Amino acid sequence: MRILVTNDDGILSAGITALARSLSVLGQVTVVAPDRERSAVGHALTLHSPLRAEEIRPGFIAVDGTPTDCVHLGIHGLLDARPDLVVSGINKGGNLGDDITYSGTVSAAMEATLMGVPAFAVSLVGDSFNEEDFTGAANFAAHLAAIVTKNTLPIDTFFNVNVPAGVPHGVRMTRQGKRIYEDVVTEKRDPRGRKYYWIGGGELGFHDTEGTDFNAIHAGYISITPLHLDLTNYRSFQTLSGWGLENIQTGSFGEETE
Ligand code: MN
Repeated sequence: MRILVTNDDGILSAGITALARSLSVLGQVTVVAPDRERSAVGHALTLHSPLRAEEIRPGFIAVDGTPTDCVHLGIHGLLDARPDLVVSGINKGGNLGDDITYSGTVSAAMEATLMGVPAFAVSLVGDSFNEEDFTGAANFAAHLAAIVTKNTLPIDTFFNVNVPAGVPHGVRMTRQGKRIYEDVVTEKRDPRGRKYYWIGGGELGFHDTEGTDFNAIHAGYISITPLHLDLTNYRSFQTLSGWGLENIQTGSFGEETE
């Protein structure tokens, strides 16, 4: 079995080292990961500059691009053959609820799914980490990898896995939860009097709704959320049909208005 491992924390992160080590029990692991931290780059793909790839040690290839670039290059260029599985992580910090839309870790698994390769993303919830903190999550990832490759994931579906700090009580299948946003932009002035802004910081709350990823993590369980590439809100069609969007006459929209 060939396994491609990537992340968004960079190839030198402790999380990816632990993950590569645990997965190597199952097969041949190749790490293709960003050469530096690229957290929160989402699903960005580099199209307007060249990419360099350097094997920094056997089986570890650093790319000066995004996690999505790494999966793309890994599957289409750097690996000898198509991988059987792509695992992204272990991210230092959870990817829960709305985080999914920003996460480079999750986007890497999404990219693999787009290419038809089974994939999952793994994140370790918490704020600060020692190297050994990743061991439990890495071992769980190897266990899950064996299950994912033995079965067939539903079409266009991949897992977003979050592991709580400490010893988990078990595993729960969850749905994507929702954060409560606070004021997370800080305005400051630089020494020359110009304003600048910091996005992020501050403790974020969440809706502790039964069945969500947040709820499972909060209760000390590993959370597995099956995500789907099709983001269409099918339930909304009925409501939106009353808006008359398909009755808009578009024939004159090419003309300049005064
Ligand atoms: Mn990250």
